[in-house]
Amino acid sequence: MKILVVNAGSSSLKYQLFDMPTGNVLAKGNCERIGIDGLITHKCPGKEDYKTNADFPDHRAAIALVLQLLTDKEKGVIEGVSEIEAVGHRFAHGGEKLRASAVLGADEIKYLESIVGLNPLHGPPAISGFKACKEAIPNANHVGVFDTSYYSDMEEYAYIYPIPYELYEEYKIRRYGFHGTSHRFVAGEAAKLLKKADAKIITCHLGNGSSITATVNGKAIDTSMGFTPQDGVPMGTRSGAIDPTVVTYIQKVKGISAEEADKILNKESGLLGVSGVTSDCRDIREAAANGNKRAKLAMKILAHNIKKIIGSYVAEMNGVDALVFTAGIGENDRELRQEVCKDMSFLGIEIDEAYNQSCPRGEVADISQKGAKVKTFVIPTNEEYMIALDTQNLTK
Ligand code: AMP
Repeated sequence: MKILVVNAGSSSLKYQLFDMPTGNVLAKGNCERIGIDGLITHKCPGKEDYKTNADFPDHRAAIALVLQLLTDKEKGVIEGVSEIEAVGHRFAHGGEKLRASAVLGADEIKYLESIVGLNPLHGPPAISGFKACKEAIPNANHVGVFDTSYYSDMEEYAYIYPIPYELYEEYKIRRYGFHGTSHRFVAGEAAKLLKKADAKIITCHLGNGSSITATVNGKAIDTSMGFTPQDGVPMGTRSGAIDPTVVTYIQKVKGISAEEADKILNKESGLLGVSGVTSDCRDIREAAANGNKRAKLAMKILAHNIKKIIGSYVAEMNGVDALVFTAGIGENDRELRQEVCKDMSFLGIEIDEAYNQSCPRGEVADISQKGAKVKTFVIPTNEEYMIALDTQNLTK
């Protein structure tokens, strides 16, 4: 079965065509700068990569070009669009109602449209991307996979904020959690490695955006991102959790609006804000190696906050079987993994520092010290495969 996975952002549309159930990727690519001056990158294993400027004013034009490339005699991999049996759409937010991946019918889309206020950046482009795909591939089964749905089984006490309850009732202000598809994938892989379905697992998705999730018996019980992806550990440009009063205080002392304060916390904070250099972890490491004290401090703050959250989740779960690192920083920054896992032997977390430094990139690695009570793994994430898998399961 050929399944197209689509991830539509405000000015981009990423795609992967899977052959299921093998999971082989037949083609993948990215339409960037939609509505500005478009650029498409298209890759098929065994063929030359294709990259060109393209004129796509909107998502509809972008998906038309993607389908044209997928069916092209030279650059393509299928003969006709009808070969695509199903399309999996990534949605960052499924609200309270879309608690699991679902076939997207009129009711689901109506609900997604009703919650764009909770998700103003990702909601509208994801819905436009879906509509464009549905129009272009009407006979395929269209499935939505929601980053939030992994957290649907969290207990009320883990998702209700201690603020007036009416704010939850009226505005749906609560912890939702994000990156759920990635956490679900790597936690699942870790459970397989442990050969223990009811394992207690802490997954650290550390990338441009970062979140940490505690999973017990295949279900997330807590997660560091909250009402928005702003909560939790510091990120590339987001502050992560801070004393909430800082927001109103900077509004007052700087005489700025809520939007401007939001911009500071979302776009000018985190690694960028502390280092004053960049939001990119590799560049921060380089600056730190060259003696930049604030770059060093930014990484120290990051490791410190990750450690604190891991400790709190061990307490919540009364133990942990495995700790997992994933995403750009988690998979690649060996120094950060070492820093986070240092002095955690009390919790049973001990890594083989030499292997942590030398383990191959892009592969699953068990970096725990021999005999350590807790397994520490590096597991490359694969959200697209997870979306293809859910789509397959809802299409059979
Ligand atoms: P992601 O959002 O998962 O694509 O991750 C992006 C982050 O991963 C950026 O901060 C990158 O600097 C970081 N990253 C990628 N490769 C490396 C590396 N080799 N060492 C440290 N950080 C890396």
